[in-house]
Amino acid sequence: MASAENRCSLCGEPAVARLVEPERRLCAAHFIEDVEARVIAAIRRERMVFPGDRIAVGLSGGKDSTALLLVLHRLLPALGADLVAVTIDEGIAGYREETLRAAEALTAELGVEHAIVTFADLFGDDLDGLLVGREAQGCAVCGVLRRRALAEGVKRVGATRLATGHNLDDEAQSVLMNILRGDLPRLLQDTSTGSPGHFVPRIKPLAVLSEKDIVTYLLLRGYFRDLPECPYAGTALRSEVRTMLAELEHRHPGTMVRLMRFRDGIRESFSLPGPAKALSTCRICGELTSGEVCRVCALLGREER
Ligand code: SF4
Repeated sequence: MASAENRCSLCGEPAVARLVEPERRLCAAHFIEDVEARVIAAIRRERMVFPGDRIAVGLSGGKDSTALLLVLHRLLPALGADLVAVTIDEGIAGYREETLRAAEALTAELGVEHAIVTFADLFGDDLDGLLVGREAQGCAVCGVLRRRALAEGVKRVGATRLATGHNLDDEAQSVLMNILRGDLPRLLQDTSTGSPGHFVPRIKPLAVLSEKDIVTYLLLRGYFRDLPECPYAGTALRSEVRTMLAELEHRHPGTMVRLMRFRDGIRESFSLPGPAKALSTCRICGELTSGEVCRVCALLGREER
C-alpha cells in the first residue's frame, strides 16, 4: 500500500510522479492531465495556434515527436486546428527503418494524415551516402538538410505551422551550447516564430516538459518504445552538453528551468544586434538564402549548370 506521502495530491490514489514548482505528487490519470494542461497553457500563453491552422508535426517516430503527436491529437480539436504529420527519412541504416515503422503505425492508429519526405528523393542520395568521408560532421550536415526537407514536407501538406518535439532538456542544452560557443546573436534569436512571408512559423509546444515528463507520459499511455539511437548522435557537441546538464540537473534540480529563465531575461534586456539580413534566392536552386548560394547547395557541392 502507498504511504500517505506517496499518494496523489489531488485524489489520494497511489502517486506515480513527483513534480516541483509547485511541489505535487500525481497518480497516473492526474499526471496525464497535468502534462496536457501544461502544454495547452503554453500554446495559449505563447499564441502558438489559431483557429483554422493546419499544424504539421515533424514526426521522427522517436519519443518526443510521438508524445507531441499524441498530445496535439487530443488538444487541437478544442483549438479549431487541424493535424498532419511529416516524417523525414534521411536514410540512416540501422536506425531510421524502425522509427519510420513506428511513425507509420502511430499515424495509422490515430487516423492522422502522414507524408514522408526522403533525402534520396530531394538530394539524390541518403545521409549515409552523403556523409562518406565526413562522418564526424553527421549532425551538422543532417541538420541543414533536414530543415530543407521539413520545409518541403510542410509545403507538400499545406500546413500553416510546423510543430517540433523540442523539450525543456533540448532547449536548455541549446542555451548552454550558445554560451559555450560565445554565440550571443543565436542566444537572442527566437527561431520559433519564423519570418512572415518567408518561412512557415515553428512552434515547440513541449518546451515546457522535461524529457522525464515525456517518458513518463508515454509509459502511462502505453506508447513508450525503446528505439535505436542515431549512430551519428555522439558526434555533436550537444551530446557532451546533454551529459553535463543531466548530471547538473540531478545534483541541482531546477538547473534547466533556471537556464531558460536566464535566456528569457537576456532576450528581454537585449535586442538583436543590427537589422536581420535581407534574404535573396540561391543562384543554384532558387530557395531563400542570406548569401548567393544556400547552405544546402554548398554542403552538397552543387554547381551551376
Ligand atoms: Fe541527423 Fe544528428 Fe539527428 Fe542523427 S542525431 S538524425 S545525424 S541530426
